[in-house]
Amino acid sequence: MKGRVNGSYENIIVMGKSGAGKQPRVDALTRKFGMKQLSTGNIFRHYLGLFEALGPRGPLDRFRDETDGAFLPDDEIQHALGISDRADADDVTLGLKAAYFVNQGRFVPDEITNALFAAAFEAMDYRGAVLDGFPRTEEQARFLKTLADRNGARLDAILWVENEDEAIIARALGRRICETCGGVYHMEHRPPPEPGGCDEMAPDCRIVQRGDDTVESLKARLREFKEKTEPAIDYLAALGIPIHRVSGNLPDYGAEAVEASVFAAMGVE
Ligand code: AMP
Repeated sequence: MKGRVNGSYENIIVMGKSGAGKQPRVDALTRKFGMKQLSTGNIFRHYLGLFEALGPRGPLDRFRDETDGAFLPDDEIQHALGISDRADADDVTLGLKAAYFVNQGRFVPDEITNALFAAAFEAMDYRGAVLDGFPRTEEQARFLKTLADRNGARLDAILWVENEDEAIIARALGRRICETCGGVYHMEHRPPPEPGGCDEMAPDCRIVQRGDDTVESLKARLREFKEKTEPAIDYLAALGIPIHRVSGNLPDYGAEAVEASVFAAMGVE
């Protein structure tokens, strides 16, 4: 299918397994079309950071009700954490819930994810978004479609970044991120320029491994993709949204090679 002319995309969805290499493709799209990345993973990491700033809190199971598997009421959680008086107590609680799922490599429940996504999408007036990591379930895909329709917004295309499980595991274990500026590096393919530094070289840049980049968590995320995200892609395809497939595993990882493969797949000059 012929792609749209430059700049006429309203919203693009980037899909792919966790660790497939979505970020460089998202960067290519935001640069080319002047769009903005909307990443639910980044939203969760923001809240998770608020919770983790409290310091080690031990296993999070104790904040769950053993009988029905749901979280304890928020006020009980906040009391147990000693944060009831804080103005951001609700955000920290959300961070605890995100940490519980994200660090195990499990999807955060649709109810929480959809609400956070809707707020971020509304803040962009439902336009100009490169959706990264959302939707990941059929329920989320239906929610997105309803939200877009209700606000007269288009979902123009899906970019599906494909990659083999083995390549993803090898790559994710070498991945390092800068906690301060969000820069993404790889110990083999793109080592951070200086120990503890990054391209921007801000004095407070800090290179770390993502808390969920462990073998167990990665395997769980790959299972989640197969069971939950593939049906979401089928649902979106059935709506007639064109799907453009690109390989997440190029021999050359440079920005130009990534751009060339993305725009060739989309039929964009
Ligand atoms: P990502 O950075 O996109 O790989 O997301 C990191 C983690 O955040 C995932 O492994 C999930 O635990 C959680 N997450 C991000 N987006 C979603 C989503 N749409 N639905 C459920 N969980 C999500």
